[in-house]
Amino acid sequence: MTTAATDPQPAPPRPEAIRIEGLQKSFGTLNVLKGITLTAREGDVVAVIGGSGSGKSTMLRCINFLETPSSGRITIGGEPVAMRADGSPADRRQIERLRQSLGMVFQQFNLWSHKTILENLIEVPVHVLRVPKAQAVARAERLLARVGLAEKAGTYPAFLSGGQQQRAAIARALCMEPRAMLFDEPTSALDPELVGEVLAVIRDLAAEGRTMILVTHEMKFAREVASHVVYLHNGRVEEEGPPEAVFGAPRSDRLKQFLKSVG
Ligand code: ADP
Ligand code: MG
Repeated sequence: MTTAATDPQPAPPRPEAIRIEGLQKSFGTLNVLKGITLTAREGDVVAVIGGSGSGKSTMLRCINFLETPSSGRITIGGEPVAMRADGSPADRRQIERLRQSLGMVFQQFNLWSHKTILENLIEVPVHVLRVPKAQAVARAERLLARVGLAEKAGTYPAFLSGGQQQRAAIARALCMEPRAMLFDEPTSALDPELVGEVLAVIRDLAAEGRTMILVTHEMKFAREVASHVVYLHNGRVEEEGPPEAVFGAPRSDRLKQFLKSVG
């Protein structure tokens, strides 16, 4: 006898937020990305690890077209990015729109130094996206409070510590209400005592189910927050899997060596 009607159904897979397929990127004759395939579903925290020069930043920069891929396919929120045969974007407006749906946080905080923290947060929403100013300010204030900077809205970046500046940069990215966040070594430029406060903010975002791709050298943190870990070596995905597998039972000798060198 079957009880099909009451059998628990497997949960449908969460929708894809970011998918890259066969991504290649060369700078002149230097072949930096050699065919990277990776998917982040909604709510995934994908940690990208790998040695210096392995192509981590280039990959992130290709995802939001700060670099033009040489070939491959990129799909954001189910929408394929229209690319010409040479990888260049076929539709500038699509690129602008998709880029705005991805919040990017760089190693260097990249705040506008001549604007206050609040002005940094509302600049693009108000002047590019035409969000009414009162609404943008309210959102910015809420996000500043969220990253522990409610008191710093009127302050210029130079008067903030590196950790505070990076938290402000994260709040600024969140002001765009991004579909996903891309972090490129967000704590690498910080004094060691300031790393924790930035990781705490990222940990919070992960806990609330934010989709993110996080390039990081913080292996302990990656192991703790990632749902999936990708190890890049020389422009290729050398190994990937759940954090317990990648960190706990690495298979490739290169990954084993890498983990030893950073551990
Ligand atoms: P990672 O972030 O893993 O350290 P990158 O993506 O920054 O690695 O760099 C990968 C390789 O690509 C390096 O050899 C780097 O020198 C090279 N590269 C990155 N950006 C450029 C560029 N704009 N022009 C030429 N070479 C570049
Ligand atoms: Mg890098």
